[in-house]
Amino acid sequence: MNKLLIIVLIAAVMHSCAQKPQSVSKPQEHISVAFDADSAYHFAAEQVSFGPRVPGSTSHRLCAEYLEHTLQRFADTVIVQHGSMPSYNGTPMPVRNIIAAFNPSATPRVMLSAHYDTRPWADQEQEQEKWHTPIDGANDGASGVAVLLEIARQLREMNTTKGIDIMLWDAEDSGTPQFEYSANHDSWCLGSQYWALHKHKAGYEAQCGILLDMVGAPDAQFQLEQHSRQYANHILKEVWKTARRLGYGDIFTDKHAYPITDDHYYLNQAGIPTIDIIHYDDIRGFGSYWHTTSDNMDHISRHTLGAVGTTVLDFITNR
Ligand SMILES: [Zn+2]
Repeated sequence: MNKLLIIVLIAAVMHSCAQKPQSVSKPQEHISVAFDADSAYHFAAEQVSFGPRVPGSTSHRLCAEYLEHTLQRFADTVIVQHGSMPSYNGTPMPVRNIIAAFNPSATPRVMLSAHYDTRPWADQEQEQEKWHTPIDGANDGASGVAVLLEIARQLREMNTTKGIDIMLWDAEDSGTPQFEYSANHDSWCLGSQYWALHKHKAGYEAQCGILLDMVGAPDAQFQLEQHSRQYANHILKEVWKTARRLGYGDIFTDKHAYPITDDHYYLNQAGIPTIDIIHYDDIRGFGSYWHTTSDNMDHISRHTLGAVGTTVLDFITNR
């Protein structure tokens, strides 16, 4: 059943990935959305059940196949992009990006994305003997993908006519380990870097990009990250405004955060204006479970998943 309710008419809404203000004065329907946080939680648990999704591992391959099959149930097309990029120490790393499209020929397009691989090392652990343990990546990896899978399910339910792409990046989190003492920033985000060099469709453009990363912790707060402000401030403002209207102003705060090297950096370099909704602040960093063996399902909150999913789905539905 389609659960959409048309609630209210809003005059002259200017939702806005558009660079130029529109002078439309026609009333626009506001559609309420139904994002199911329990379903998103389930999608996160399913990914974690494969084990750590380290590129090249069997768990990674099986999870990638699960993600492909799941998206095929909801989207109009699913493309899998295979490639290779040099890793932090120069050895080739396999890359397998998963790209699902709703209404592939519709324009303008919105690109929603998250990384699905997990960090091969728990290199933020205090105890050195844990540094080489791969992590569950319930928050760092599975949470963003889980929100996008549930958004995909809802887009199918509502038979969207909008042009929306859901891109699941590989090999985001195999950047130089702390114990190697070198700072190669381009060793991160290899999947999105590969895509920027080899777009899945010649001339592909999106008017608006939203990246999700670590969006499931109970104490998550999202701040206005600097690359997002620099490249896509108009999108950032509208998404945050949507979150406040929905009652999530305590999670989507007005504080500023330093620039973060994440997939959105490379997407912005490739001409897709993209914001990063990421659990980070200048004082606490990425949270206490980040890149540790404690990044597991015990520390995933349905409320946070719901806040992010409801905000993003409302924004893309009503823009
Ligand atoms: Zn990470």
